[in-house]
Amino acid sequence: MTIFRGTVLDTPDGTAPGGIRLRSETDAALVVVDGRITARGPFAETLRAHPGHDVVDLRGGLILPGLVDTHVHYPQVRVIGALGLPLLQWLDEWALPEEARLESTDYARAVAEEFVRGLVSAGTTTALVFGSHFAAAVDVLFETAARSGLRVTAGLVASDRSLPEPLLTTPDRFYDESTALAERWHGVGRTRYAVTPRFSYSASDEMLDACASVLKDVDGAWFTSHVNENVAEVTAVAQLFAAAEHYVGTYDRHGLLGSRAVLAHNVHATDPELDLLAGRGASVSHCPTSNASLGSGMFPMRRHVGQGVRIALGSDVGAGTGFSMLKEALQAYLVQQLLGPDGLPLTAPDLLHLATRSGALALGLDDVGDLGVGKQFDAIWVRPAVGLPLDVGLRHAASPEDALAKTIALGGPADIAAVWVGGDRLTPP
Ligand SMILES: [Zn+2]
Repeated sequence: MTIFRGTVLDTPDGTAPGGIRLRSETDAALVVVDGRITARGPFAETLRAHPGHDVVDLRGGLILPGLVDTHVHYPQVRVIGALGLPLLQWLDEWALPEEARLESTDYARAVAEEFVRGLVSAGTTTALVFGSHFAAAVDVLFETAARSGLRVTAGLVASDRSLPEPLLTTPDRFYDESTALAERWHGVGRTRYAVTPRFSYSASDEMLDACASVLKDVDGAWFTSHVNENVAEVTAVAQLFAAAEHYVGTYDRHGLLGSRAVLAHNVHATDPELDLLAGRGASVSHCPTSNASLGSGMFPMRRHVGQGVRIALGSDVGAGTGFSMLKEALQAYLVQQLLGPDGLPLTAPDLLHLATRSGALALGLDDVGDLGVGKQFDAIWVRPAVGLPLDVGLRHAASPEDALAKTIALGGPADIAAVWVGGDRLTPP
């Protein structure tokens, strides 16, 4: 049993941004037994009730729930920062040539370590990961993630058209390789399997049927893909699927959407698509730095929330500009500000919820995303170096909300001093 002592901020209530409450306690104690929080309260009182236990002193800085990234591409670590192109050209010139290199398992192993290190050092404790087009590379990702202790849901990426030949597969081969990977990793420790067609632009109806078969045959598997990211992509998908009513429909007519589905982007959503997503209980992963970097557009968060679509945040590395979910939260805020009357004004607690609890809810992890009694101790210690602007800001914060806003505005991987998942302290590979 361990007692963690410090200032704890989290957002346990609510499901959508807009009026989220911040729970804050200064000099609090979290009692952790077998990775789970069993008691929480003022330090002195809690220590008296639990004498003789190890105390980890995290005073100075903030204890926050571990960050949750609901859309991040493992094979794209090395192409982060390729600025200046729209989606389809960026894929052709940067992402896809790099993804083809993961055919080499040695190459994939090096990338997997860089990827996991990127997540852990940014304070991400749970991620829905877009895997590789190569089964051996996905196996390596699972191995590396399992060794690190992260909570990772991931899968083999499916494509059978529109991409360079080395990245293509067939529906039968995809089914066989996916179910073999799922057998090895789904529900094992902290890893789970996700059925992952790249996007319907690169997946035929036969391939999407194979995806539906894997989803049916792997009990409790997740589904993830892309949707409505960029205008040229949306137009191309409409041409490829003349019979589908819209982009969301290309997945839905194969039975792929439900409460275990997470679709990334949805920048150019129509109202019927939002209604359908809400009805299915599917989630949208909002990827704000990627949307800005590729010029994809401004996310209509107000319409998503208004129509009852569940949302969470994703870094979308490598179109996104890094692993930090604090930066994604800031960018989510900035975009809504720029949208003026069409935007949804976000508070710091709204942003923390989006980066933690919303993601846990989207991934069906009920015991993750806040630091209440009964929850897993998935946490980060934000502890900036003395004298840096965030340190100055935290020491002079007017309130817990203000400290949180400063952390979102100024914080980054360098300020994450420690990371725990299920009570285990993680060290990057
Ligand atoms: Zn993506």
